[in-house]
Amino acid sequence: MLAPRVYLDWNATSPLHPRARDATTRALDLIGNPNSVHGEGRAARAIVEAARRQVAALVGAQPANIVFTASATEAANMVLTPDFRMGRKTLAIGHLYFSAIEHPAVREGGQFSPQQMTEIPVTSKGVVDLDGLARLLSSHDRSLGLPMVAIMAANNETGIVQPVKEAAALVKLHGGLMVVDAVQAAGRLVVDIEDLAVDFLIISAHKIGGPKGAGALVSRGEILMPKPLIHGGGQEKGHRSGTENVAALAGFGAAAEAAREEMSKAGHRLHELRARLEDGMRRAAPDVIIHGEDTERLPNTTFFSLPGLKSETGQIAFDLEGISVSAGSACSSGKVGESHVLSAMGCDARLGALRISLGFSTDAEHIDAALAAFAKIAGRRKPAGAAA
Ligand code: PLP
Repeated sequence: MLAPRVYLDWNATSPLHPRARDATTRALDLIGNPNSVHGEGRAARAIVEAARRQVAALVGAQPANIVFTASATEAANMVLTPDFRMGRKTLAIGHLYFSAIEHPAVREGGQFSPQQMTEIPVTSKGVVDLDGLARLLSSHDRSLGLPMVAIMAANNETGIVQPVKEAAALVKLHGGLMVVDAVQAAGRLVVDIEDLAVDFLIISAHKIGGPKGAGALVSRGEILMPKPLIHGGGQEKGHRSGTENVAALAGFGAAAEAAREEMSKAGHRLHELRARLEDGMRRAAPDVIIHGEDTERLPNTTFFSLPGLKSETGQIAFDLEGISVSAGSACSSGKVGESHVLSAMGCDARLGALRISLGFSTDAEHIDAALAAFAKIAGRRKPAGAAA
């Protein structure tokens, strides 16, 4: 009999949390449109508004400041725009400064043109270079409009946590707007929009145990908002038209609530499991390079390189052993390119790297199965300098 598969790619997507599954399946039977005034409509509206409160609570926001979208990518495309509204007035954003390790959802720059975009460097430790940001902001030409800065709360490949609070303080000094991609950090670390004092957060349901295809743009106030990306019936207070995906939002809300309640216990557990994994990897292959090991990371993520092992080969080898891991970022059609995150850190991106990421149902047996596969794969590598 085949051994059961072990899923260790939670940063790509999470299985449904049981509470999210219950909430989603119950909501699938609601027949009303949440924008209808009759009883069926009101029942669906109640589910959407409960989800809004649950998602808001996860990130310390007001429910009124949540705009539901179909993905974090959509939320990023909406907020990364030169075109903002302040009540009836318009406000121009002149330039987007984004960290060199952003996910493509942000890296592509939304509605900014390439001429309106500049990368913020990161240090060799994989952390945004705040001096570099300060220099960029000091030379920003305000005659073009205000600066916007996008820095993720934690990187999806390395798990490295970014100094977004410090960056936000700098951005405020220069009168700019700060956008934070909290897709990987939300539900794993405390992310509080008020404490971070950032203008916008983007989050995604499917990274925290909710269904795929739901996200949110979270703002700190309701006054300053990007021009809508999707026009139509005026849902989400006109910020995002289209009938709400009631079942997905019900699951998003339940997953957000579960993540908030379980975060501290889960964080300790994942930290211990990851230590077991990394200690075992070091014992089996002392030359393993664990990226960001001396830097603050998400408790569930390990990003490593094994000299002599290409990431595609490594990923396939793990897959054949029944273990799902990821080679670099898994969001782009299964294609494995060189990691822009490793390049930005000044590492040789051709080295290739694999990511193992854990979640609420990962246990010690899964880690030991991954370690057994790791030992086999590491042992099969060609010794350095061997003829190809
Ligand atoms: N931002 C980060 C850091 C991610 O890891 C991802 C997904 O991998 C996204 C954004 C995109 O999220 P979504 O799949 O909801 O569009």
